[in-house]
Amino acid sequence: MVAPVWHTTESQRIFNQAQRLMPGGVSSPVRAFKSVGGQPIVFDRVQGAYAWDVDGNRYVDYVGTWGPAICGHAHPEVIEAICTAAQKGTSFGAPCRLENVLAEMVIAAVPSIEMVRFVNSGTEACMGALRLARAFTGREKILKFEGCYHGHADTFLVKAGSGVATLGLPDSPGVPKSVTAATLTAPYNDLTAVKALFREYPGEIATVILEPVVGNAGFILPQREFLMGLREITQQDGALLMFDEVMTGFRIHYGGAQAYFDITPDLTTLGKIIGGGLPVGAYGGRREIMELVAPAGPMYQAGTLSGNPLAMTAGIKTLELLGKPGVYEQLEQVTSRLVQGLQGIADELGHPMCSGNLSGMFGFFFTPGPVTNYEQAKASDVQKFSRFHRGMLERGIYLAPSQFEAGFTSLAHGEAEVDATLAAAREVLSALP
Ligand code: PLP
Repeated sequence: MVAPVWHTTESQRIFNQAQRLMPGGVSSPVRAFKSVGGQPIVFDRVQGAYAWDVDGNRYVDYVGTWGPAICGHAHPEVIEAICTAAQKGTSFGAPCRLENVLAEMVIAAVPSIEMVRFVNSGTEACMGALRLARAFTGREKILKFEGCYHGHADTFLVKAGSGVATLGLPDSPGVPKSVTAATLTAPYNDLTAVKALFREYPGEIATVILEPVVGNAGFILPQREFLMGLREITQQDGALLMFDEVMTGFRIHYGGAQAYFDITPDLTTLGKIIGGGLPVGAYGGRREIMELVAPAGPMYQAGTLSGNPLAMTAGIKTLELLGKPGVYEQLEQVTSRLVQGLQGIADELGHPMCSGNLSGMFGFFFTPGPVTNYEQAKASDVQKFSRFHRGMLERGIYLAPSQFEAGFTSLAHGEAEVDATLAAAREVLSALP
């Protein structure tokens, strides 16, 4: 049988038109495939573990709309719940009982959260939580880590990961120096650097914010002593510890990274999964801190569409599905099979690679490793990644179009999808020098 020829004529036509209409032809930078090169694929529909492009090609999807699609795309129960909720209207702009339901689920699941505020994106969640940390401590400085991404708010665009890393951008023009002057940075997993900054600025740092497992500089695991050290140092200094769990929340564990590593931050940000594929973010923490948020307290933060009934519904249904027994074991099993398979093929064919996963989140770098911070991630063979990415795409496997992004599996990914992926990887890696 002759394999069908992969063609992307319609994707090209639509993307060419998009480039005249929108900067770079996209609504978010990484989608433009800048770092891997070649024309991006224009999606037509998604279902389960798969995405179909406008030319009719099917892909096993390991991006999962950048994390939210943990139950598989367009899960029938989520879609049905959204359709039912839509009959009652698409937006209330008034209190709605669905907010209470999702809030209760989040509070029950995430150890650090006693109260929660819903917003519309991860960016908004981090912006709100940062303002709150500053309001609570009366301090202005923040400490973030190189390669971590906390959305596109001014304060965080310093040595940021995700699209900023993908495009190799310096700190963005348009961000006032006066704003980023208050942002300190340190290498991930480097407690010595953190201690030095706290020695230099005692009593001045409002919060230490981090991705408790990094997904925006590629996949990088935290060392447990690093997380424990941050908890101790912040407590000693009176700074707040903030886990940005926009990506890891409900992904690596139902209670997020904080439950997995058993380290409780003061504030937590969430997004992605808690919206079940619709726009939602949230921030939460101890009651005494959260009660500073307006109208309970003086720290202002608001949103026309916040607590939107459709988004709450999608989030509730998604968390219900994730609350079933065995879910995270299943994610761990399928993702480990994928990552171990990939590593095995790379080893066998002599391609230096280091890889890892936690539950349904994974990554790999073309370097012998280990990769414990962004500097080491940047030293990996990005050219090889680009060629690998293209080869996989041509064989119906859709990976994140950047070395500096994590991959995601879902409950719809099974052995068949993993085996197809590994077969494609063997072909591609065999042909790479
Ligand atoms: N924080 C983390 C850890 C993220 O991964 C992201 C997005 O990828 C954000 C914040 C920003 O979220 P959003 O893109 O929903 O604004």
